[in-house]
Amino acid sequence: MRVAKVIVDVPVRDTDRPFDYLIPESMRAWIEVGSRVGVPFGHRAVQGFVVGLEPEPAAAGMKLKAIQEVLDVIPPLSEELVELAGWMSRRYACRMITALQVMVPTALKGKAERFISLGTPQPKEPEDLYSGGLFELELEPSGGERAILDFVEKKGEVTSKQLSRQFPDSAPVIKSLLRRGVLQENQSIKDKLQIKTLKAVDLAVTPDEAEAALASFAPKAQRQREVLQFIVEMKEMLPLALKDVLATLQVSAATVKGLADKGYITIEDKEAFRDPYRGRWFKPSDPLPLTAEQQNAYDRIVSVLDAQRHGVFLLHGVTGSGKTEIYLQSIQRCIAQGRQAIVLVPEISLTPQMVERFKGRFGDQVAVMHSRLSGGERYDEWRKIREGRAAVAIGARSAVFAPFAKIGLIIMDEEHETSYKQEESPKYHARDVAVQRAMQHGAAVILGSATPSLESYHAARSQANDEFAPMLLEMKARALGNELPGVQIIDMREELKEGNRSMFSRSLHQAVADRLERKEQTVLLLNRRGYSTFVMCRSCGYVAGCPECDISLTYHQKSNNLRCHYCGYAEPAPSVCPECGSEHIRYFGTGTQRVEEELAKLFPGIRVIRMDVDTTTEKGSHEKLLKQFRDKKADVLLGTQMVAKGLDFPDVTLVGVITADSALNLPDFRAAEKTFQLLTQVAGRAGRHQLPGEVMIQSYTPDHYSIIHASGHDYDSFVREELKHRRNLHYPPYCRLILVTLSHEQLPFLVRMAENMVSVLQGKARQKGWYGSLDRLTSDAFDVLGPVASPVPRIKNRYRFQCMIKWRGTIDAVGLVREAAEQLEDTAQNPKLQISIDVDPQMLM
Ligand code: ADP
Ligand code: ZN
Ligand code: ZN
Repeated sequence: MRVAKVIVDVPVRDTDRPFDYLIPESMRAWIEVGSRVGVPFGHRAVQGFVVGLEPEPAAAGMKLKAIQEVLDVIPPLSEELVELAGWMSRRYACRMITALQVMVPTALKGKAERFISLGTPQPKEPEDLYSGGLFELELEPSGGERAILDFVEKKGEVTSKQLSRQFPDSAPVIKSLLRRGVLQENQSIKDKLQIKTLKAVDLAVTPDEAEAALASFAPKAQRQREVLQFIVEMKEMLPLALKDVLATLQVSAATVKGLADKGYITIEDKEAFRDPYRGRWFKPSDPLPLTAEQQNAYDRIVSVLDAQRHGVFLLHGVTGSGKTEIYLQSIQRCIAQGRQAIVLVPEISLTPQMVERFKGRFGDQVAVMHSRLSGGERYDEWRKIREGRAAVAIGARSAVFAPFAKIGLIIMDEEHETSYKQEESPKYHARDVAVQRAMQHGAAVILGSATPSLESYHAARSQANDEFAPMLLEMKARALGNELPGVQIIDMREELKEGNRSMFSRSLHQAVADRLERKEQTVLLLNRRGYSTFVMCRSCGYVAGCPECDISLTYHQKSNNLRCHYCGYAEPAPSVCPECGSEHIRYFGTGTQRVEEELAKLFPGIRVIRMDVDTTTEKGSHEKLLKQFRDKKADVLLGTQMVAKGLDFPDVTLVGVITADSALNLPDFRAAEKTFQLLTQVAGRAGRHQLPGEVMIQSYTPDHYSIIHASGHDYDSFVREELKHRRNLHYPPYCRLILVTLSHEQLPFLVRMAENMVSVLQGKARQKGWYGSLDRLTSDAFDVLGPVASPVPRIKNRYRFQCMIKWRGTIDAVGLVREAAEQLEDTAQNPKLQISIDVDPQMLM
């Protein structure tokens, strides 16, 4: 093969196709489909991926540039992954290079770098070699030149910056050396493998020695004593980040340094990110004898595994039904066949127990793709997979690209979680990619959840979806036979009527007080997805909604009006409730910080651990906070969704949800579904151990079906009701959505473009005979809503407008939208206009 087709890493639309390059003789044995190469592009050296090979240039006599370098010994991608990238590019209307890049670790996203080395000057004419003459004269360096050449020779290669710093006054000399070829400038792709360091604290003596020393501290060294005691207590988590110690104990760096001077501890620069599993021992586990429900599900999965064909399962099992055991035993079967397995979890740092269970069963065969690992470490785990040293990969969304050669099984736990959708380009959904990949490998897919997404559940039930129709496997009982906990709904409107304006109802207040008394623990959940954006009446629970779209209106402070983000409908913000006339109508939402303040006021001295995006940015902070709570260092764990996941503590006997409604009223047609999922998840977490659990859900809309059915652990009834709404209003799963967002610095221009976009879309759809409302009784339909200002109307000084496409059938809607976007870009002739396409969007706000 003499020619390689290369997708180059150049971010303009015209480059979204392969370019042909000659493969130099010396590289032919090295280059395969999937190789990463450095190629000249214009005047630059850029990185690219080989996506095809051909024996000869397409047009004879065409002058092709040659590949400059092969960047890896083992190509980072396989032919299968390159093919998958092509599929993604069509499926999600993204650029091919973006799809390829998302498959390789960040460490391999190289940047071109220029460096200077000693040249091998070529004589102009062959006879110069013999005649000596000019050529030799030029080669003889002067004294000043000598110093520069020695410097370069010693270093091998230097950047021009290094050279100019070393020889600031020699620019003319250096230029002349370069011109004569005595020095040469090269470009190369340098991988980003940077290791971040961080000051870390560790014990310099044994924990026992440190413990013993605590008694001997002078009274004036109390602060140091506290620090040492803390470090001893945290001995399983060592080393600790110095800044965590300072922040937790509110001590000065000098105090900690004093301890180091005394020889009790060390303070050293450590790699900021370490493999949290390195050197850790995992309790080995053997397969459990399955319950009847588990056995039934397992047998169905095994029949597909053993036939080595493609099949998708939706494993719908209540919390605690033992889904993980099925995953484990299915993987075992898959490995025994000499095939590999991928396990996807929503957010790996929130699921340490999951990792433990897989490591416990499969040991070193497990590669963990942890987002909080350093680039270098992630690269190591990835190489373990690529080089065939691992059989199981476990990780979040992007682990779906784990470069295994022969995949037998892909598992997606908590398949309903929105984190499986990537919000930046490529805007892929790991579920779709998993199914596509499994198809290419003849592999099985298990989608597991206690609350499956409506898309998956509907597809399984109706078996009508062309893209995938999973087989439904149901498990209704908990594996250990214990009951799901009782759930109490508290009507917050009643509280207000009785004069209680606090965010805590009297029952929840009393329940927390009881737990403090009994030294049991409480988990309080606050829904992050709810800020002061929607308007609700605190007297009757009325929420302002769009008459057309059945979603709540968003409050816009500037204009003091309410707007629908789907269709653009607007009305002035009411000052009294249109339903009951109450004046207690206002925008709603409450943050974790406010709840924390309120707790401190209501229960002086209460110990609260707050877990939200603000307190968990540090690596390992989830695990640490949860460990502190497990060790009973706090009475209350207060947090957003993330507390619902790590929740498995024997002493937690109360779970309170502050306002169940805060997610219910977001301008998102999935609001009810998200609320139901979250409440079911929290409710299912309580009472997993000896002590019986109690769940309290506070709500201003206690009659809402999502809240009622969640309190009854009744998925089927919820789905039946929710599907009715979705069908009537034409939302997924009864149609599919494409969100097109345009942005530009100038509003009038943007509005014009957004309007053009809609008419181009309509025009093209009309030509194909697709265009029309989804009410029509045709199987193919394509409807465009908008344009309207985006929910976040301006980001970084760029205005944003959007339109929403609803479509169904077997039509190539994505292709048409892409075509329309390209046509608009061409006619707009304005490089600052950005058009983003989100296929099957999950976040609509
Ligand atoms: P899920 O993932 O469905 O919420 P888990 O897999 O966490 O459920 O299982 C809940 C509990 O039941 C775990 O403690 C697990 O060890 C236990 N378990 C699961 N299957 C069995 C089984 N066949 N026999 C005994 N215990 C089981
Ligand atoms: Zn009202
Ligand atoms: Zn509307």
